[in-house]
Amino acid sequence: MRKQFAVIGLGRFGSSVCKELYKLGHDVLAIDNNEEKINNMTEHSTHSVIASGTDENALHSLGIRNFDYVIVAIGDNIQSSILCTLILKELGVSNVWVKAQNYYHHRVLEKIGADRIVHPEQDMGIRIAQHLVSEKIVDYIELSDEYSIIEVIATEKVSNKSLDQLNVRAKFGCTILAIKRGKDINISPFPSEIIELNDILIVIGHKNDLKRFEEEGM
Ligand code: ADP
Repeated sequence: MRKQFAVIGLGRFGSSVCKELYKLGHDVLAIDNNEEKINNMTEHSTHSVIASGTDENALHSLGIRNFDYVIVAIGDNIQSSILCTLILKELGVSNVWVKAQNYYHHRVLEKIGADRIVHPEQDMGIRIAQHLVSEKIVDYIELSDEYSIIEVIATEKVSNKSLDQLNVRAKFGCTILAIKRGKDINISPFPSEIIELNDILIVIGHKNDLKRFEEEGM
């Protein structure tokens, strides 16, 4: 379903979010107070407008309230990011996602009602570190302090075996959600599914269980 997004602040993070949402076929309104940033985004957004995220009247006249999601990606200027978030919540935007710069910024955003607070640099740092320490892990998504999803490359140890034979859930307490093979992805593999060398297994579980599976089971 096509959704309406607005992205405020078109630095590296905001512009990537904007381009990707537009590529995925959604309506995206790009907002920045820098004309050059707006000019660079005209081809990658449905509409692009030079405006400040702290200008309540401007946001109101853009009909910001009617957007499904507004992403506040104002970078270093923490004060503007906070004020913009506050205005959006006061105008009644139901989903406001904000990029936080640090812990204190995060806490303030939480207090003023940001619906989701993201730390893209930290998240990416964690994912890259996970990849660096284990060549088997190709991607990592943290779900909470305890649970994550990992993508691991099937080694010789698990290949030519069925999910049933591996019995990962009983042995390690984690679940193989899906198997990627080249461009194909099997999102609900049967117990009889045979794993092939270099398949990518998408596994969900407690971090300790995932670690054990990756170290001992793979
Ligand atoms: P990143 O770390 O994601 O690259 P930056 O700090 O480089 O973030 O970029 C933030 C963007 O937000 C810049 O394009 C800047 O022009 C824009 N910006 C800063 N303040 C405002 C504001 N009040 N309203 C709208 N856009 C803003």
